This record gives sequence, structure tokens and C-alpha cells, in this order.
Amino acid sequence: MPYANLTYEMLGPAIFLSAGFAFLLLYVHDRTQLAALRLSGAYFASLFGFVAVMLVDSDLQPAFQAAILVSLFSGHFLLVWGVASLVGKEFPRLAFGLSVAVVFGLIIYANASGAMFWLRFAAISGFTALVDLMCCALVWRARSHRVDIVVALVFLAQAALTLNRIVLIQLSELDLSTHSVFKNSDFAPSMQTENAIFAIVIGLALFSRYSVTLVMQLRRLAETDPLTGLLNRRAFEAKVQALRAASAPLPTGLIICDIDHFKRVNDNHGHEVGDRSLKAFAELLERETPDTAICTRLGGEEFCIVLAGVNNEAIRLQATHLRRAVEQLQIAIRGGDLSLTASFGCCKLEPGDDLRTAMVSADAAVYQAKKDGRNLVREAAQTVATAEQIKVA
Ligand code: GH3
Ligand code: MG
Ligand code: MG
Repeated sequence: MPYANLTYEMLGPAIFLSAGFAFLLLYVHDRTQLAALRLSGAYFASLFGFVAVMLVDSDLQPAFQAAILVSLFSGHFLLVWGVASLVGKEFPRLAFGLSVAVVFGLIIYANASGAMFWLRFAAISGFTALVDLMCCALVWRARSHRVDIVVALVFLAQAALTLNRIVLIQLSELDLSTHSVFKNSDFAPSMQTENAIFAIVIGLALFSRYSVTLVMQLRRLAETDPLTGLLNRRAFEAKVQALRAASAPLPTGLIICDIDHFKRVNDNHGHEVGDRSLKAFAELLERETPDTAICTRLGGEEFCIVLAGVNNEAIRLQATHLRRAVEQLQIAIRGGDLSLTASFGCCKLEPGDDLRTAMVSADAAVYQAKKDGRNLVREAAQTVATAEQIKVA
């Protein structure tokens, strides 16, 4: 019995099918992952052309030539679309459209001029190289992680290999007058093996990019408050620790604020308006504090801000600035705008101070601001002292 070898003819389909199914599984698991669906489509769509080009003589079967071209264009269209959506970039309509138009023109010219398979071959190879360069540029421009550099380099390598192949063919004077000669040459299977290997390398690189994106998304979810997008308490404490270490020996500033009479917002306008107000309030905090400041939602309608390297005066000024900005904030509701006010407590944090103790003091200052009439800023040291004095008295 003959020994059944796994030949390159089977290598291609095996790679295209497994990569296609891998991305499809990702999509089936999470229907929001449209990039995975497009990449899966890219592999499935390219499969036909990859196999057919070695099995059918397209010079004799124009219908197959058309089908191979459809497979080629749709596969590469889905690849670019998948890569663009994966890295959060726009589909490069102009570059892709122009490339398709030029290649299509060359193919029609080659067919009309008789046996010019080499021109069709060069046009199609040039097109795949251009697509690889587009993918490389998309990933490079959007790079946010080391894995992006690897993905971009893999696309660049395949583009270089393909362009090099076009040049080598011209130099070697290989006979590429007809598809039949090409298909039966030694060159065709080695080219298809290279393409199959690159298909798996690109698939793995994109899959790694996907894993990194998903891990980063999960981390962001684990670190943020779902309603406002601010850091949650756990992530906040870790970031504050790092900020204080970086600011030392300078002190940091702590501000706690609580929206005034927020229960009334829910009672009078509904929970949806309440949620929108919390989001708008959180956006205001991020907008009106320096980039180095760390903001968190402590819970309900209570927020906390830590400022890097500030003195008492700067902390008080920042709290007052926020208090005024909240007064100006307008939330669109049915029949007009809704205004809010908030009460602020603040204190200075020396490098050795305990964060949680300081938060208790700042919270007491908020309580004092509420007691004094709301929409006020109170400083913790004085408030704590006053509270103690009151107790003693
Ligand atoms: P004060 O000025 O004394 O702070 O009064 P207040 O009404 O703001 O304080 P209170 O603690 O009595 O009520 C807070 C309200 O915040 C109660 C709750 O319905 C609302 N709240 C807490 N979390 C959320 C939320 O995630 N969404 C919405 N819409 N409301 C929330
Ligand atoms: Mg409140
Ligand atoms: Mg509260």
C-alpha cells in the first residue's frame, strides 16, 4: 500500500481552513468581534483561489479564471477590512479601490492580448504585495503594543517576498507564457508552499494581536467602573500608590466630592437621567483636572481625585475650580437643562501619610461642607480639628 504523504496541495487548504475556523470560533464565542468574522471570511474566501490556481488551467476555462479572481479580491478585501477593524482604523478605500482598478485593467489587457499569463501573474502578485503593505501600514499606524510591530513586520516580509518573486521571475526568464506551463513548473508548488506558510504566520500574528487586545480589554473592564469609565477603587489605590511614589518628596492632594441632593435627581427625573448625570460629572472631573490627576468613583455619587505634587493652596484652588465647573454643567433633559452642585472635602497627603486615613478625613470635610449648606469646599485638617473641638466642647 502506498504511504499517504501530506502534500503541499493539502497543506494550503489545511492552513486556510484551520485559520478560518479559529477566527470563526472567536466570533461565534463573542458576536461583537466583527474583525474575527472578517478575518475568518478572508481565509475561507481565499481557499478556493489557492486550490483552483493549481488544479485548473485558467487559459482554457475563463469561468474559472473569473472565479479565482473573485476569490482573490474578496479574500484580500476581507483581510484588509479585518485588519483595519482589528486595529480600529478606517478601511483604506482609496488605496484598495485604486489597486483593484489597476490590477483589473492589467488582467483584462493581458487576456485581450492573448497568452500573457506572466502579466496576469505579475499583476496579481503585485496586488497581493500592495494589500500586505496596506495591512502593514494600518497596523504600524495604530500600534499600541509590541505585538503590533511583529504583525506589521510579518506583512512587510510577505510583501517583500512577493515583490522579490516578481523581479526574480523576470531575471530568470522562467517560461510563464501560459497558466498550464506555470502550473506544471517546479516554481508553482514552491511558491504555493511559501504562501501557505505565510498564511499561517500571518494568522498566528493576527491571533496574538487578538489575544493581546482581549487581555487589554479584560484588564480595562476589571479596572474601571462600568457606568462612568473612571478607575474603580482597586485600580485607583494601585495607581495612587505609584503616583505618590513618583511625586515624593512632594505631597499629593486628595479631593473627595459628593453630588448634592442626588436622590432628588433620580426621584424627579428618573434613573436614566441620574446615570447620565453621573457620566457627565465623571467626564467633567477628567476634563477639569490635570492629565496627571487620578479620578475614581468611590460609589454612588461620590468621587475622589488625587493630584500630583501640590501644596495646600493648589489643592484648594483645584477643588474650587471643580465646584464652579459643576455649577456650570448642564445636563440636557426633556424640557430643558438640569444643573447640579457638589460638596468638596480636601486634604494634603505627605509621602508617609496613610491614604485610607486621609480619605476618612476628606470625607469628614465633605460632611462638613454638606452641613454648612452644600456647594462648598472644606479642608480636612481644619474640619477634623473643628469636629474634635466640638466634641471636646
Ligand atoms: P446629599 O446632598 O446629602 O449627598 O444628598 P443625596 O441625595 O445626594 O444623598 P443620598 O446618599 O441620600 O442619596 C444618594 C443617591 O444616589 C441615592 C441613589 O439613588 C443614587 N445613586 C447611587 N448610585 C447611583 C447610580 O449608579 N445611578 C443612579 N441613577 N443613582 C445612583
Ligand atoms: Mg450626595
Ligand atoms: Mg453620597
